[in-house]
Amino acid sequence: VFQLSVPLNFLGSVYRELRQSLLDMETLFNLQKVNVAIKEKPDAKALQLTKGGEIRFENVDFGYYPDRPILRNLSVTIPAGKKVAVVGPSGCGKSTLLRLLFRSYDTQSGRIFIDDQDIRDVSLDSLRRSIGVVPQDTPLFNDTVFLNIHYGNLAATPEQVHEAARRAHIHDKIESWPHGYETKVGERGLMISGGEKQRLAVSRLILKDPPLLFFDEATSALDTHTEQTLMANINEILRDKARTSVFVAHRLRTIYDADLIIVLKEGSVVETGTHRELLERGGLYSELWTAQELSMREEEEKEEKEKVT
Ligand code: ATP
Repeated sequence: VFQLSVPLNFLGSVYRELRQSLLDMETLFNLQKVNVAIKEKPDAKALQLTKGGEIRFENVDFGYYPDRPILRNLSVTIPAGKKVAVVGPSGCGKSTLLRLLFRSYDTQSGRIFIDDQDIRDVSLDSLRRSIGVVPQDTPLFNDTVFLNIHYGNLAATPEQVHEAARRAHIHDKIESWPHGYETKVGERGLMISGGEKQRLAVSRLILKDPPLLFFDEATSALDTHTEQTLMANINEILRDKARTSVFVAHRLRTIYDADLIIVLKEGSVVETGTHRELLERGGLYSELWTAQELSMREEEEKEEKEKVT
């Protein structure tokens, strides 16, 4: 009995280590450069989403280098259960906001609260488990499609994995590959398109079912069709459950229906409101919108002309 129980225990610990390393990989991949200097307090408690995920930035200052401030005295509240967009000129600190929320970095001064709990007081695991991220470039492991989705929730059954893929509109595609869910993807696996990669990420997210959802729109333009399908998928996920979602957006057309739009400039909030309110205000958002619409129209006209000739 003794001899048998040793290898079984050993296997159990390998499994736990594997699970842990998968979670670490998630941390690593979700928002890239995770800072090892981020430590949790010895008395850290699990994050309790008592209000449904209200996020509050209070006088936040942050820079990747102390002498180069990126966020300056930033204060803003993201209401629980709403779809919120963060927009602004390139480099103004939009993605940085998400990295701070995930505690890839800590603020230099000021505080960030989720449901009135300072995120530095809660356990890292509970914080990161509550957050689902669709990053700009979806990382895939050099492993099977199945595992790449499954790791969104390692307790999920194969049926739940398939159901998640179905809801992300990628199940049929997976089944059409010669090895189905056992197909190897990632750098050394099957080449799949950017859109398919993102749909795998969405499947993973559906399985994880996080109360907080962050979406970092890719700077490099996806084609319009892929973009629209992806947004439709994400809106579908958002519909069946109230959850706080924060969209960092470059193309304003993808977020004009947000409940709240936060406009950043040089690391501070300059305007907040709905699309309509911000257009009426005639400030930075309205300038960005007009410029984007103009260049979109020029693009469309050019495409039309090319079709005719
Ligand atoms: P974009 O619209 O171009 O994606 P953004 O508003 O999301 O930009 P951030 O990615 O938050 O901007 O970057 C804000 C500033 O911080 C930029 O000047 C960027 O070069 C700098 N920065 C971002 N990440 C790092 C990093 N890991 N180390 C040092 N500087 C960084």
